[in-house]
Amino acid sequence: MIIVMRPKSSQSDVDTVTKKLVEAGLQYHLSQGESRTIIGVIGDKKLIAKLPVDVFPGVEKSVSVTESYKLVSREFRQEDTIVNVGGALIGGQHLGIMAGPCAVESMEQLLEAATVVREAGAQFLRGGAYKPRTSPYAFQGLEEKGLEMLAEARNKTGLKIVTEVVDATSVEIVSKYADVLQVGARNMQNFNLLKTVGRTDKAVLLKRGLSATISEWLNAAEYIMSEGNYNVILCERGIRTFETYTRNTLDLSAVAIVKSLSHLPVIVDPSHGTGIWKMVSPMSRAAIAAGADGLMIEVHPNPAEALCDGSQSLTPQNFSKLMGEIGAISQIMDKKLR
Ligand code: PEP
Ligand code: MN
Repeated sequence: MIIVMRPKSSQSDVDTVTKKLVEAGLQYHLSQGESRTIIGVIGDKKLIAKLPVDVFPGVEKSVSVTESYKLVSREFRQEDTIVNVGGALIGGQHLGIMAGPCAVESMEQLLEAATVVREAGAQFLRGGAYKPRTSPYAFQGLEEKGLEMLAEARNKTGLKIVTEVVDATSVEIVSKYADVLQVGARNMQNFNLLKTVGRTDKAVLLKRGLSATISEWLNAAEYIMSEGNYNVILCERGIRTFETYTRNTLDLSAVAIVKSLSHLPVIVDPSHGTGIWKMVSPMSRAAIAAGADGLMIEVHPNPAEALCDGSQSLTPQNFSKLMGEIGAISQIMDKKLR
């Protein structure tokens, strides 16, 4: 259930309501909107039903949320959430662009990629230091050395760092270097990992699982938020269907659906979503036109030499061209690129 307080309700009204919830053995989460406070109630449905919430002081109405995700839902928070990563904003009117190589390969490769993506207008540098590869014989990433390189690239360019955490035990070390913790598609329902990143103060980029429904994806985000971390960014990266021409089927309808079901920002990764570099620009343009709050794009200084995902990586030139197009579409969508 969600309790919506009146716009002029006082702090003592809010305190009275939350005290009654605790006395009834329930938990709550507060959301302080611009005009009013909303209280998300969590716990046994029977206990919730017994409470005469609508007559508590300062309460405007109570709304029962039928979905299993609550903190993630639009009912809980009507305004778009804007995730602020050290001044780089994603959500609302703000487009967040994350770009860089699939994997950190060397300092030289990373700095070259970082320089071009920053010049083209990205605010975030992506790059995996721990790589979840389908084959155990494929390049697994530079691990902590790669994290050090990412931190150095941040020092040199000012870009915020997005990098993957592949398991709960690596959250501590990745948090020392990263600005945004990426939970990959293969880990979307690793509930222990979700809870662990939910206990950090880092923004979390939650990719949609390979075969996850929208409801499963939003419930995964709920795991993170239920631990107290509200800085969650969702990322549509394609799902597995019968179609094999593309690596995955990029589900752009998910952007419009999730924007109506949830207040969280949603970005799109057309690189993993299609697996084909030529498809990346058209799908990026379509994503922004569909209302996405940003993009995650693989860019490599020399895709032919990439250790990972070269065939879906844009060259610096193609990425710059795309950013010009995104700039034009963002104006129609009333969004800001920086
Ligand atoms: C990635 O972004 O490098 C990645 C492995 O993506 P996904 O988890 O979407 O496959
Ligand atoms: Mn990749």
